[in-house]
Amino acid sequence: EEGLDPETRAMAHEREVLGPAYRLFYRKPVHLVKGRGSRLWDADGVEYLDVYNNVASVGHCHPRVVEAITRQASMLNTHTRYLHENVLGYAEDILSTMPDEVNRIMFQCTGSEANDLAIRVAQTYTGGEGVIVTHEAYHGNSALTSKLSPALGTAQTLGLTMRMIPTPDTYRVDIDGTTGGDCTPEAFGAWMAGELKKQVEDMQRHGIPFAAFLADSIFSSDGVYPGPVGYLKPVIDMVHELGGVFIADEVQPGFTRTGDAFWGFQRHGVVPDLVTSGKPMANGLPTSLMAARSEVLEPFAGSIPYFNTFGGNPVCMAASQATLDVMRDEDTMGNAKRVGGIFMQALRAFQAEHPCIGDLRGTGLYIACEIVKPGTKEADQQTALDILEALRDNHVLTSVCGRYGNILKLRPPLVFSEDDVDWFSDAFTTTLRQLGI
Ligand code: PMP
Repeated sequence: EEGLDPETRAMAHEREVLGPAYRLFYRKPVHLVKGRGSRLWDADGVEYLDVYNNVASVGHCHPRVVEAITRQASMLNTHTRYLHENVLGYAEDILSTMPDEVNRIMFQCTGSEANDLAIRVAQTYTGGEGVIVTHEAYHGNSALTSKLSPALGTAQTLGLTMRMIPTPDTYRVDIDGTTGGDCTPEAFGAWMAGELKKQVEDMQRHGIPFAAFLADSIFSSDGVYPGPVGYLKPVIDMVHELGGVFIADEVQPGFTRTGDAFWGFQRHGVVPDLVTSGKPMANGLPTSLMAARSEVLEPFAGSIPYFNTFGGNPVCMAASQATLDVMRDEDTMGNAKRVGGIFMQALRAFQAEHPCIGDLRGTGLYIACEIVKPGTKEADQQTALDILEALRDNHVLTSVCGRYGNILKLRPPLVFSEDDVDWFSDAFTTTLRQLGI
């Protein structure tokens, strides 16, 4: 190991110590030591622009969140078997952002746990077992949710009780000669509702009653499909008509990211039966939630005890409250809308010059930049990966998503600024020039 640079040494060490299922980003991994706002620094002091991390939702190490954590951690940390004002206060506050019908909440530590619980609640309420997800969905790493995460590879997922419907690919799905992006929400929603109905009816033919449609309303791992706004309405109406419940997985679109509403489902004008979220909730502390209509929760919670050792603890609740306060005081929703619009405009200028950018779509600070073979809609994963690596070398961090791994996922902390858009544009210009595309 003598003479190896520190990153190479660390990678060799990791291979000896950590389970092999871990995957590092980048051919040349990044060793980060510090973060502030939308910026990160590596061990050599090099500054990076973060265009990827939605967990540090109000910015890395936001001082108000750090202070709230520090104060509560030095006072007390216990669990939800004792009364504590932090959990009650936060529960009320976060429920006030949801539709009136969704009026009960339970806390967990990860999005996986929240979805796992939501599925159990849905199955108990409906008496059914069948759950439907989209083709490239990711909903978690537990035994139950990994089976509902075809993004992990369908080999280990799905079966008779777990079914997929196609990705709502607004770039490619053709409905009577119109591609999805130009469809009305009614037409696109009717297509999707029809796909859902086919799967539910097939399950029922196999004697499996329908329990739930579990979806992230921005279809993040599918490749980010935010519109036409309202297309989920006919789908959720169909779910209810067929006797199922809708679980809105808000891990990705929730907490003001879309710029249009606090929650992703609100953009589409639908009311879920169950809501789950996690990642952006406490700016980095492991905290998640499952909210429910009380009548949907009742049969489960009325009979089965539920305890989550760390879920809802006073320190995580203090972090969650501080994060929510910052979202309001700094108007992250308005910022996502304003800066997201500026970001999109900047990207459109690139698209006009670079035919490898096939489609741009997004809402607020959630933008997908789809890389294709010029003049076609054929996914070009290799070029997308080359862009990703070159951006890293130009000190911009992002990632890819979608079935073909050719879609740049641009999802920065919600405090992303106009200066950050300029930094990105400079790095993107250099990147595309270096790659000659
Ligand atoms: N749902 C969605 C939509 C997600 O993106 C993720 C995580 N990427 C999860 C659930 C699982 O969350 P966690 O990793 O906190 O278990």
